[in-house]
Amino acid sequence: MSRSITRRKISLPSLSPGSSHELAVYSFGAANEGKSIYLQAGLHADEHPGLLVLQHLLIQLMQLDELGKINGQVTVVPYANPLGMSQRVFDSVLGRFDLANGENFNRNFPNCSRVISQKIKAGVKCSSSDWKRNFATHLASVKPTTPTATLKLELTKMAMQHDIVLDLHCDVDCVSHLYASHAQQDQAVRLATALNIPVVLLEPDDAGGHAFDNVYGSTWRELEINHAITSGARGFSATIELRGKANIDDRLAQTDAAGLLNFMAQEGIIDAATTAGTDSQTTPTQTYPLVAASHIPCPAAGIVVYKKNPGDSVIESEVIAEVVHLDSDIIGERTPVHSDTNGVLVIRQAPGLVRPGQRLALIASTTLPAIRDENRPLLDA
Ligand SMILES: [Zn+2]
Repeated sequence: MSRSITRRKISLPSLSPGSSHELAVYSFGAANEGKSIYLQAGLHADEHPGLLVLQHLLIQLMQLDELGKINGQVTVVPYANPLGMSQRVFDSVLGRFDLANGENFNRNFPNCSRVISQKIKAGVKCSSSDWKRNFATHLASVKPTTPTATLKLELTKMAMQHDIVLDLHCDVDCVSHLYASHAQQDQAVRLATALNIPVVLLEPDDAGGHAFDNVYGSTWRELEINHAITSGARGFSATIELRGKANIDDRLAQTDAAGLLNFMAQEGIIDAATTAGTDSQTTPTQTYPLVAASHIPCPAAGIVVYKKNPGDSVIESEVIAEVVHLDSDIIGERTPVHSDTNGVLVIRQAPGLVRPGQRLALIASTTLPAIRDENRPLLDA
């Protein structure tokens, strides 16, 4: 490895005697030089396209490093959840939820809000780098009680030291999209444009659930609105959904890695001249408020047959799917599923056998619902 690349391991507590898990962390560029970016994939350990993208990205970063083209710092965690990857049940990876307690792996990350609130109340104003030191001091005092909590703490410690944090996910079957804060729309659109992502879902900073990107973003947001940062911009975070689970393909992954490098070049982290010639955007990027997204529930038990593809435009009352009843007295009976809004179908969540109430689709819209269901979770990542 070149002089500016380091590879280290972070050991996690053993889940059982004789077993061990560890995170691998690659760092490019010199510490405290230029802007920094952190990337991870596979936090939901059953979502694999991002794992391949980061392998392609690592190869590209090694070549850029040899050419001396890395101006800032890049940290890559190529698999963020080795605990989840080990959750094989009858050879299927059940990596979205922790089998120890059923908790979504992308929830309940430790946050720095308590220490920040105390310092803001005390009138502390300091630079971004000083705030990063405060985050590190606070997180060093957190005592996790489970292997999963240790994993989340270690990922958070690393992320909080960077200017940009990107978390690579995917969904069941979807067009590529990303989640970011309303307050950082411009940066989110630039990221989406670099990656040829058509849909940006903008969420409030207080979306709840303490998801990985949200813990990072809400911390900086609190500092920003309290005017507690004296220099430098707040950090930027986004969750990127790289299409569907089955879209694991070298060509797509190479294109996505090139898109990430394009974004890094725009941010001045790598030399801009090195990314010339990558694919230009073919799909326009559109932003949507996440609060206006519609989760379409399944009306009946049966087999779902979708009538629309991810990325298709839909209008209110249009049939997007049909549920084929298997136990009806009427042979061939189907129940249509209608869109309840105008927008674009982003995710098809339930191929095959479905039950009443199960989420069938997510439709992004710019039309805010007349009545918002306060119990409906905003986050889908
Ligand atoms: Zn995910």
